[in-house]
Amino acid sequence: MYDVAIIGFGPTGAVAAGLLGGQGIRMLVCDRLTEVYDKPRAISLDHEIMRVFQQLGVVAQVEPFMEPFTNSEFYGVDGQLIRCMSTVAPPYPLGFNPSLVFSQPPVEKVLRAHVQSLPSVTVALGQTLTQLTQDEQHVTLQLQAQDGTVTEANARYVIACDGASSTVRGLMGMALQDLGFDQPWLVVDVLINEQGLAKLPTVSVQYCEPQRPCTYLICPGNHRRWEISINPGEDPQQLATPEGTWKLLSRWLTPEDATLWRQASYRFHALVAQDWRKGRVFLAGDAAHQQPPFLGQGMCQGVRDAANLSWKLGAVLRGEAGDALLDSYGEERRGHVTELTTRIKAVGQIVGERDPVKARARDAHLLEACGGVVKPQPRQNVQPALTHGLLAAQTHPARGTLFPQPWVQHAGASVRMDEVLGRGWRLIISPQADATLKVAASAHGVKGMTLHTLGQGALIEADGVLENWFTQNNCTAAIVRPDHYVFSVASSDAELAHQFTQLRQHIEVLAA
Ligand SMILES: Cc1cc2nc3c(=O)[nH]c(=O)nc-3n(C[C@H](O)[C@H](O)[C@H](O)COP(=O)(O)OP(=O)(O)OC[C@H]3O[C@@H](n4cnc5c(N)ncnc54)[C@H](O)[C@@H]3O)c2cc1C
Repeated sequence: MYDVAIIGFGPTGAVAAGLLGGQGIRMLVCDRLTEVYDKPRAISLDHEIMRVFQQLGVVAQVEPFMEPFTNSEFYGVDGQLIRCMSTVAPPYPLGFNPSLVFSQPPVEKVLRAHVQSLPSVTVALGQTLTQLTQDEQHVTLQLQAQDGTVTEANARYVIACDGASSTVRGLMGMALQDLGFDQPWLVVDVLINEQGLAKLPTVSVQYCEPQRPCTYLICPGNHRRWEISINPGEDPQQLATPEGTWKLLSRWLTPEDATLWRQASYRFHALVAQDWRKGRVFLAGDAAHQQPPFLGQGMCQGVRDAANLSWKLGAVLRGEAGDALLDSYGEERRGHVTELTTRIKAVGQIVGERDPVKARARDAHLLEACGGVVKPQPRQNVQPALTHGLLAAQTHPARGTLFPQPWVQHAGASVRMDEVLGRGWRLIISPQADATLKVAASAHGVKGMTLHTLGQGALIEADGVLENWFTQNNCTAAIVRPDHYVFSVASSDAELAHQFTQLRQHIEVLAA
């Protein structure tokens, strides 16, 4: 009997397997294919994902396949700049460049190799899940090998990371909610030569043109991507032929400038699972949600799912928390995914406006809103906080957001904070905290929680990232969860004591 079985060894499954296997949990991971899909789909990720890769210990291996994301400039009906999305300047809030482009196949290979190196994980490739049943104790899986041989395996919990057309979701009858986006687009990946590169924009571009909205993305090295909307009456299959695609690309390039790597037509959807858990089975990644690619968040969402579920499953399997903790997974992730998808849709609606009159009104409105001068807005501003689940009952903008990760001094070297503080529950106190709060902090501590004071011991930071965070959030203490989300912030001993009471109640209920 395995503790956890993961169906699907794409990015979501590989990250979930790495995080659970890293806790020594006995696991099975299967995928119907034997190799990583060799063409890129996701091409952007953010610092939260890099922090998860840091936890896996693979940052040095994946960094060679990454580059900073260039600004994305939005151009309106008359070719004028109407919006600009950028990245923030250092020092970075989470210890990594907040916005990156990457090459998916080699990064997936690194993630897989890491999982395969973990002693508690069994990887079964070329095995398709065909059937799944569950009772109160465990889940039974039926797996079919490529030669048709069928085997059975049992696991206490199953995570379905089997992608957009999830077999598990179908077998379990778990419905998707339609968030109302359905558009046909052509996605084209191109490898460009020197003469071609000289013709292309040096930033990423959203062409918000009613006659054919289109996105141009600068990917690592000489890889460039176009996402081109398909007009009513056009044949998506014809546009995906080399002839059809070159015709669409002729505005920028000729076949002498580049090689087509992949072109495929898609319907961009916005879907989220109604329920993320059925008994012992959880949905994660594309199996639980799909979103249009306008902010490059699809894979990031799956990694967030894996990070959220893996610490909770680990705690339950070790007997540190009761099964009820696992209900907070869907509660937290569904709310976050729904809100972020709504924001992504709003960007898609700006880019994809087809009515010329409305498009001009959009341009005028956006320019008016910034006083006629477009100012770059960091992409990360679009990330919502967690609003439901394992959080203190408190109204504060920092609650449910990611706690920063500064670089700190450790053993004569500069390292990222998580390397030193670990990943359990943490209480972080600012040096500005008054003496009573410091006393309260140590008196009210929760079992297993570590206490750290900024400027002392392991928390001597290099760039003032944490100091600024406390100042901006007008607080002097933060309770931080194992996945780095802020449970609560406080400025007085009374507030902190109240929050500890809430956390204990959560933990007691959860341990029951
Ligand atoms: C054109 C395009 C552009 C995108 N751009 C971005 C972007 O810029 N940034 C971003 O973050 N995301 C982007 N995405 C989304 C991203 O690619 C997906 O969100 C991500 O790959 C999902 O990962 P996953 O592991 O959940 O699913 P998948 O990558 O689909 O993996 C699912 C795995 O499950 C396996 N499987 C399926 N059924 C079974 C079964 N019955 N038994 C065993 N194994 C099974 C499959 O073989 C596969 O390996 C894009 C997607 C597309 C299509």
